[in-house]
This record gives sequence, C-alpha cells and structure tokens, in this order.
Amino acid sequence: MADKDYYRILGVPRDAPAEDIKKAYRQMALKHHPDRNPGSKEDEEKFKEASEAYSVLADAEKRSVYDRFGHDGLKGQGFAGFDSAVFEDFEDILGNFFGFSIGDLFGGRERGRGGARRSRGRDLALEIEIRLEEAAAGVEREIKLNRAEACPVCRGSKRKPGTRAASCPTCGGRGQVRFQQGFFTMARSCPRCEGSGEVNASPCDACQGKGHIREKRTLKVRIPAGVDDGSRLRLVGEGEAGDEDMPAGDLYVMTRVRKHPFFERDGNDLSCEITVSFSQAALGARIEIPTLEGSEIFKVPAGTQPGETIRLKGKGIQDISGRRKGDLFVKTLVRTPDNMSKEQKTLLAKLAELRGEDIESVDKSVIHRLKNILQ
Ligand SMILES: [Zn+2]
Ligand SMILES: [Zn+2]
Repeated sequence: MADKDYYRILGVPRDAPAEDIKKAYRQMALKHHPDRNPGSKEDEEKFKEASEAYSVLADAEKRSVYDRFGHDGLKGQGFAGFDSAVFEDFEDILGNFFGFSIGDLFGGRERGRGGARRSRGRDLALEIEIRLEEAAAGVEREIKLNRAEACPVCRGSKRKPGTRAASCPTCGGRGQVRFQQGFFTMARSCPRCEGSGEVNASPCDACQGKGHIREKRTLKVRIPAGVDDGSRLRLVGEGEAGDEDMPAGDLYVMTRVRKHPFFERDGNDLSCEITVSFSQAALGARIEIPTLEGSEIFKVPAGTQPGETIRLKGKGIQDISGRRKGDLFVKTLVRTPDNMSKEQKTLLAKLAELRGEDIESVDKSVIHRLKNILQ
C-alpha cells in the first residue's frame, strides 16, 4: 500500500480540516472493522489502509511532510510504516467498543501472558537555543530530562519479583465481557482488566505497580555543524521507557538559533552589510570584518557603488551533510561626507571640476535620461 493516495483512501480533499479527516476515518474504520466483518480479507485491508492514512494525516507534521514529499518524504524522516504512538488516539476515536486494539493488526503492540497489551515508550521533545556560531561549527550541549524509566526492581513487569499475574475475576481471564443489544450479542473490553484478562495481585512496591519510575537525567547531545533554526535531531531510545520488553520512545531535540547582530542567514548562505566612506569606495580599501570564526580582511574594490554586493564563495555555513559550504554576501553601503570643513569643501569642488561635473547650474541629466527612455 506504499504508493496509495492517503486523501483518496479517506475520501477527503487535500485541504480537508483535521476534524473532517477524523470524521472520515471514524466512518471507514467502523464500516470495515474486522470485528464487524469477520473473515473478510477485503475489509481488513481497507481498515488497515484507512488506519495508516489516518496515522499520517492526523499528525500535522507528518501530513505536511507527506503533502510536500509524498511517501518517500515520510520514509526519509523516519516516519515510514505505522506509528504505534497514535494507537491511543485510535482508541479515543473508536472507543473501547471492539474487542481488540488496532495495534494488534499492525504488530506494533504485543500481547503478553494472558493477553496484556504492551506499548513502546512515549517520545519526548525539547528545544535548545544556540548561537549562530555554534550552529555553524557544531556544539555539544548538556540537556536535563525528567523521564519515565523502567523500574529497577520489577524491570517494568509491575509485579513484585517472583509473583505471577492472576486471572481477572470479572471476565474470567477472557479480557472481554459480553452484553445484549437488541438482537445482537456484543463484546466489549473488560472494564476491570482493560482487556488484558489478568490483574496484578501483588504490585511492585518500588513503583506502586506502575512499572516505571521518574528519573532526572542529564544527557550530552552533540549538535552537528550546519543545523538551522527549527532543525530536529532524533535520539533513538532516549524517550520514556516502554512497557515490559517493549522499546523506549525517542527524544527529539529541536534547535533554535539566536539572531546574529552582524550576519543574516538564508539556508547555508550568510549576508552582511558594511559601511565605507566615500573615499574608501572610490579608491578601494581593506576593511576588517567579523566572521563566525573571528575576523578577516575584506577588500573593497576601487569604484564600489553604494549597495554593491560581493559574493565570497565558501565563506558561508557548512551544509549539515558536510558536502558543501554556503557563500557570504557582503553588501557595501557608502557614507557621504558631511560636516565638512571649508578646506574639504574646496577640495571636493576641485575634484568635481576636474571630473567635469557642474555643481552650480541645474543638472538636467536625469530628466534627459527619463525622456530618452519614454521616447
Ligand atoms: Zn516496580
Ligand atoms: Zn477482566
């Protein structure tokens, strides 16, 4: 089902609001749910398709990746396949009405002894702020987390070591209770054991039977050279602990790059403005300018016009792939001399005279040029 159109699967337009997508999925899921269509491979396929489509379109970030880059984009971002993190949301939509969880169909959730549902740990996300210099060169940062980790005493089993789970007395270990509705006998998840069929008769003391304890952790994170404002790093397995024998979630670190007083950044390119005097622009000059590593000498060519931009190849930011470097664009502004002494004015008038510029009479050159253009 890799190249099917998720919007077509759910029968919604590409600009459908989140609420419509949820409604469309709910209708499809209820219609094709395997509990309603026992043994129908076709319905099961349709149900899976719709669930996969929903798992992408319901997540604003994944939806935007899919809109721009399609299925390949999702794979590139590590979103391929079915994300078990959305299971809770599915159960939210469908209620606990059906006898099994959607995760069972996709193999994302496992059933333990007695049918207990287990899921992987939750992902965590945080932001760190860095300077442009650090974004360009890469930097190591310490981050502090408060996350759920597997209880060291019961190792996530929630039970006192050496004890076993007991069969649920309410449903007799089946995980479902049946009830009559009109002509039909319906099944729903057992409210006591939440469908697992077992109860914890001797909860672990260390974690009060939760299987997890909260720990404060400090992690060292290596931010690679070339990250931009809004770049996202994924640290696999550094999120919260999963249920027993299930993998931990991931940690996403988003970088925020502080505005730089001298440089503007556009992708891997940098730009800056320098101001030189009238004489420096005319005669050329050597100006010391700041760089991300320190400073360097910038040569202003003789005859530079106000606003002229010079491109310094390879003086920008290293691409995050490490393959190429961006460029630096230096824009030169020219300061016109003011507050001049009498002697300076005389010299400048002399210069104008030598260049054949008439300061005293009305200069009609602009009007003439305009007339030539309009003719
Ligand atoms: Zn424990
Ligand atoms: Zn039960």
